[in-house]
Amino acid sequence: MTARVLDGKAIAAALRADVTARAAPLPFRPGLAVVLVGADAASAVYVRSKDRAAREAGFTAQTIRLPADTTGAQLLAVVAALNADPEVDGILVQLPLPPHIDTSAVLEAVDPAKDVDGFHPVNVGRLAEGRALLAPCTPRGVMKLLAAAGVSLSGTRALVLGRSSIVGRPVANLLLAANATVTIAHSRTANLAAECRRAEVLVAAVGRPEMVTGDWVTEGAVVIDVGINRLPDGRLVGDCATDSCAVHAAAITPVPGGVGPMTIACLLENTLLAALARRNIPIPKPPSP
Ligand code: NDP
Repeated sequence: MTARVLDGKAIAAALRADVTARAAPLPFRPGLAVVLVGADAASAVYVRSKDRAAREAGFTAQTIRLPADTTGAQLLAVVAALNADPEVDGILVQLPLPPHIDTSAVLEAVDPAKDVDGFHPVNVGRLAEGRALLAPCTPRGVMKLLAAAGVSLSGTRALVLGRSSIVGRPVANLLLAANATVTIAHSRTANLAAECRRAEVLVAAVGRPEMVTGDWVTEGAVVIDVGINRLPDGRLVGDCATDSCAVHAAAITPVPGGVGPMTIACLLENTLLAALARRNIPIPKPPSP
C-alpha cells in the first residue's frame, strides 16, 4: 500500500475560505488580538502569520508586542483590557512566555469566551466533557484532516503519541468525543512500537524527529504527524519517517504542509465561533466534531 498524502495546505485553504465566507455577511467584523512578549524569532513569525491570516479573513486584528522584561502584572493588565474590549472576540497569548512569567496565571486570566487557543481551564474542562466550543487549534486541525481523509472514527482504535496539554491530551479528548477507542502513549509507555501497531489512527506529537518508522504502522492505518523538528542540516521533518510509514499507511500527512497550516485556519474558525457565541448568534454550522 502506498499512502494517500493529505494535503494540509489545500484543506486549510478551503477552511479559511469557508470562514471568510461565513464572516462576510455579518454586521460586524470578528476581532482577534494576539499578544507577544519578548523577541523569540519563531514566535514573531507565528504571530505575524496569525495577524495576516485574520486580516485576510476580513477580521480586525491587532498584535500587542511587549518587551521581554514585561512583568506578570503588566501582562495581566493587558489581558484584562482585552477582556473588557467589546471589539475583541479572540485573545491569543503567544507561548512560550519568558520564564519569569507564570504562564498558567496568564492563561487563566483570559476570558474563557475569548479564549481562541482553548487553553483556559474552563475550556479544557468542557473539552474533557465532550462539549467544547473553543478547542485548541492544532488538535482541531488534526480532526479536520482525519475528516478529510474520510476516516469514520466511531469504534476506531486510535493512538495518540504524546500527552502535552497543547496537543496530545486535547487530541485524545476530541477523538474520544468522536467515539474512537483512544490510547494515549508517552515516554513511560511500555512496548511503544507494539501499541502503535494496534492503531488504525495514529497521531504522533512527540517532538522527536522521525521516531515513528514504518514497522510501527499497521496496514491501512491513517497517520497524522503533528511533529515539527528542525534537523542540524536545516531540514524540517516530522515525528514520523514519512516514506517508510507511507508504505503501510492508507493516508499520511506530510511535514511541512500537513498539520501546520491547519492550526491557523482553526484559529480563524475559533475566532469566528467566539464572535458569534459572544453575541448569542446561533452557530449554523458547528465545528466538527
Ligand atoms: P511536548 O514536548 O510538550 O510533549 C511531548 C510528548 O511526547 C510528551 O507527552 C512526552 O512524554 C512524549 N514523548 C517524548 N519523547 C518520547 C519518547 N521517546 N517516547 C514516547 N513519548 C515521548 O511537545 P508538544 O506536544 O508541544 O509538541 C509535539 C510536537 O508537535 C513537536 O514537534 C512540536 O513542534 C509539534 N507541534 C506542532 C504544531 C503544529 O502546528 N503543527 C503545534 C504544536 C506542536 P512525557 O509526557 O512522558 O514526557
